This record gives sequence, C-alpha cells and structure tokens, in this order.
Amino acid sequence: MASIKLLLANAHVEGIRTYEVYRKQGGYQSVEKVLGALTPDEVTEEVKKSGLRGRGGAGFPTGMKWSFLAKPEGVPRYLVVNADESEPGTFKDRYLMEFIPHLLIEGMIVSSYALGAKASYIYIRGEYAWIVDILEQAIAEAKQNGWLGKNILGKGYDLEIYVQRGAGAYICGEETALIESLEGKRGNPRIKPPFPAVKGVWGCPTVVNNVETIAAVVPIMMMGGEAYAGIGVGRSTGTKLISACGNINKPGVYEIDMTCSVEEFIYSEEYCGGIPNGKRLKACIPGGSSVPIVPANLLLKTAKGETRYMNYESLSDGGFESGTMMGSGGFIVFDEDQCIVRHTMTLARFYNHESCGQCSPCREGTGWMYKILKNIEYGKGKMADIDLLWDIQRRIEGNTICPLGDAAAWPVAAAIRHFRDEFEWHVTHPEESQKSNFGLPIMQILYK
Ligand code: SF4
Repeated sequence: MASIKLLLANAHVEGIRTYEVYRKQGGYQSVEKVLGALTPDEVTEEVKKSGLRGRGGAGFPTGMKWSFLAKPEGVPRYLVVNADESEPGTFKDRYLMEFIPHLLIEGMIVSSYALGAKASYIYIRGEYAWIVDILEQAIAEAKQNGWLGKNILGKGYDLEIYVQRGAGAYICGEETALIESLEGKRGNPRIKPPFPAVKGVWGCPTVVNNVETIAAVVPIMMMGGEAYAGIGVGRSTGTKLISACGNINKPGVYEIDMTCSVEEFIYSEEYCGGIPNGKRLKACIPGGSSVPIVPANLLLKTAKGETRYMNYESLSDGGFESGTMMGSGGFIVFDEDQCIVRHTMTLARFYNHESCGQCSPCREGTGWMYKILKNIEYGKGKMADIDLLWDIQRRIEGNTICPLGDAAAWPVAAAIRHFRDEFEWHVTHPEESQKSNFGLPIMQILYK
C-alpha cells in the first residue's frame, strides 16, 4: 500500500531546513489561513474534528486537551512543546526538528494562537544539543520574515518562541517534571491535580504537547479536520511517525497511515525491509521501551487470530495479557538470537538510574528489579527470584506519583508473562548463563 506523507512529504527536499526552501514548498500557509480568518476556538474545534491524539505516548485527544485550558482574565497562558525525547528506541522527534524545524515552528504559531499563548517554549533534551542551534536558527528566520514577534501578519497577534535545553534527565519528559525543570528547579514530577491546564509554567495555565503532535496541526489546518480524520482507522486518525530499530534491515523514521499491518511494517521494503540474515522474529516492543514486549506469535496476529495493525486500538487488543501499546512509536525488533532476560535487565537498570526518587515503590522497586535481574542474567538467580520480580513490579504499578513507575514495571511483567521459560533457563543453567555475559566487561566499565 502506498504510504501517505503529511509530515515528511518534503523531508528529502534539498535545503528544507532553511526558511527559503520551506516557504517555497508551501510553508507557513497554515498561519496565513488561520490568523485573522478563524477564531482561536474555531482552530481548536478543527483539531478536535481531526481526532488527533497526542503522539508522545499517552494518545490523549489533543483538541480535548486544549479545551481543558483554563482562561482566567489577565493571566498568561503557555504552550510548551515537549521535545525531551528520551525513551529508548524513540527518535522520531529528533528527525522532525533536525530536518524540518520550520514545520514545528509553524505548528507552534497556529497552536499558540488557538490557546491564546503569547510566549511558547520548546523544552528539548540536553543530549540534542546540536538541534538547539537548528531550532534557534529557524526561530530567527521566522522572526525576520514576520512570522513571530509583534503583530504577526498585521493581525494583532504577538508570539515569541524560546528554546530551553534540559540537563539529560529522562523524567523531564513527564509534563510536570518538565515544567519544574523549565522553571529552573530540579525536575521532580508534581502531584496532580492541579493539572498543567490549570496550573502549569509559572503557575499559569499551560498545554504541554509533543513535537509530532504540534507539527501535525499544520496538515490538519491545511486539509481540514474532517479530511485528516478520514486517514487511518477508527480513533487512530491521521499519520504516525515510527522510529524503527533493532534487528531490521532498514532502521529509520517512517511515516505510516495507521491501516498498515505490523507484518507489512516489518517485512515490506517500503519500511523495515525484514530481519537481517534470514533470522526469525522473536519479539517486538512497538512503542518505546516502557510498553510491554510482545512475542512474535502475538505481534503479527492478536490472540483472536486477527491481523494486528500499527494503530492504537489494534496494538492494545487483548490488554497487557496479549497486547501492548502504540506508545511513542519507538519500534524495537528482536530476532531469535536476542536474550530477553538481558534486555529486561538493561531496561531495569535504565529506569532505576532515571527514577527521581520521590516515591518509595519506584525508587526502591526499580533498584531491586535491576539487582534480581542481574543475578538471573549472570547465572546467580533462584527460581523464587522470578516470582519475587513479579511481586515487585505489581507493587510499583499504579502506586507512584508519575508514570515512570508503570514504565519500569510493564516491561518486567511482560517479559515474565511471555518468556518465563527463558528466565527459568538462566536459573537452571548458571554456567551457560555466565558464559553468555559477553557484554559484562563493557558494563562494568560503564556502570561500576
Ligand atoms: Fe519519581 Fe519514580 Fe515517583 Fe515518578 S514514579 S515521581 S520518577 S520516584
């Protein structure tokens, strides 16, 4: 099936990063179409009609999120673009910002207008340092050409955009931690309520949206919400960027419409191009490291034997017993040679390292999960450790301030649920298990 490109249609046009080329390709037309012609509420209505769901992971309807924004008289409102893309396996926003920065700026102007924001921020992960320069250059070009600043297009709307660089903490991708960090504080998640829509940046109403979500506002305004909703299927409307990696022939960022099957995505030449060296598919994490891993037999078909598609509903079919989540679209493929215990241990170490430490279940539980998984992986585990791991992850899920706790628990739960025999093999074969520790010297240097 030929793919529909809304966000990446011009990604390969030479020089598209610059204002001149972007404008020649039709850039900033959505601003001309909206400013002065539609009211902010009409723009929000159009986004609601489109069915656009947040592309950062949660999949919450964007127009509805915008409509929750409190609008007290005389209080500023803010749009914050969440560019703190730190989920292992997810690198789609990086691609958008690096190669088509003006698409994000254009989407921010239209979205800020809809929200009544006169100052908007891009909060970008610290490791994307070189993209900060690209974004600041694009913002300067947009300002020179009258798309930012005072009285944009003579329509009486003022907007400034600022880029704020994070310091490299994964937790700052959680919206309230991001807001704390943006305000210059330690990036600890806040207890909700109040939600950012009521009390966000500097205590003012704030909408936090992902990069891809805001970029998608541009095609929505150009084609109309209803036409956008006509792409895809059910509540999975429009297109979705997927960053694909792991054991595939063609890793990269792909734009799919959500009627594409998982099988087509993995094996077609248009996308991942299959698995290298003729190896068999073992498992996949389709939505970034925090979503449950799915074994091959439940990935291509659901538990009911139906084709599984690359969309929110189909990927979650069967709940976490047999399904997973679309998440942030970080698609990680494992071939038959990959060790699930090792992979789970690596993720547990990551979440333990990134826990902010505010809640005991997350702070302590992630550490215990990592220690137990390390013992199992290195041939020092006991059978009872597998049940202990299961127990710990259950006590973390749903008992923490922010979703990092769930994000740490779900991969462990799914790995035990679907690959328990592999955990048991490590326990019953300690010598072979130790011999397979090819990465240990490197890990000892990195994490001693
Ligand atoms: Fe911090 Fe973890 Fe609690 Fe989130 S769940 S607030 S990261 S300790």
